[in-house]
Amino acid sequence: MKLSLSNGIFSKLGIQDNFNTVKKLGFSNIEFNMKSIKKEHDTDIYREQKAYIASGLKCLTLHSAVLHVKDPIEVHQAIYYGKISLECARALGTPLMTVHSNISKKLPQDIRKKCLNEIFNEEIRPFAKRLGIKLSLENLSYNSTGFGKNVEQLEEVLSVIDPKNEMGITFDLCHALETKVVDELLDKYGRRVFNVHMANKAHQPFIQKKPELNHFLSALNEYGYEGPITLELEHKTSMEDIAKTKAFFEKLLNEY
Ligand SMILES: [Zn+2]
Repeated sequence: MKLSLSNGIFSKLGIQDNFNTVKKLGFSNIEFNMKSIKKEHDTDIYREQKAYIASGLKCLTLHSAVLHVKDPIEVHQAIYYGKISLECARALGTPLMTVHSNISKKLPQDIRKKCLNEIFNEEIRPFAKRLGIKLSLENLSYNSTGFGKNVEQLEEVLSVIDPKNEMGITFDLCHALETKVVDELLDKYGRRVFNVHMANKAHQPFIQKKPELNHFLSALNEYGYEGPITLELEHKTSMEDIAKTKAFFEKLLNEY
């Protein structure tokens, strides 16, 4: 398993400062979170690409910009966010993009299906395929505005957007703990985890051993998982705590 840091935590910094801060902490792998781009101007991609190449960091995954569509009129915007994120993933040479369902949990099921179909089947999935970028659907927390917090909901989404079982799962441990679905997600998706968002509840860092953390990592290990362990921490986490978390996981991941 490879330790990585979501650079979304430094989204308030300009892109160069963002990468420099990641490097100062000693990380070599990142998940590029589209939150790090202030406003999605298409040509900004070149600026991110230049800063990224200069940084020497390795971008293992990219977190898509997300819009949880609450009215079908917003579908075009969700498609735009998805596509500009894919363009950024291509510019950074990243093989995997984490996506949310892009739909609000308040939509009725028939409208949900129609929106999912228009966003993913007509646009994002074929575009990702053309660029050679794999997609990975994230489980959301119960308090998210989006749809997809447990196996039942994720299965409904996947039945529409992933007819060939090609998509991975980005297992967000924080969301799963908050929603109390760690085991059901592991049982159903243990073999198709492509990425892990690692944090305790409320995106607080783990800085010492906890039974729930050990249980999760042991299960992933048994499923043969060798992908990223992406620290996705709350914005206010101090530099000292990020450094402690990094040291803790470097040691811990050696056990698996
Ligand atoms: Zn996450």
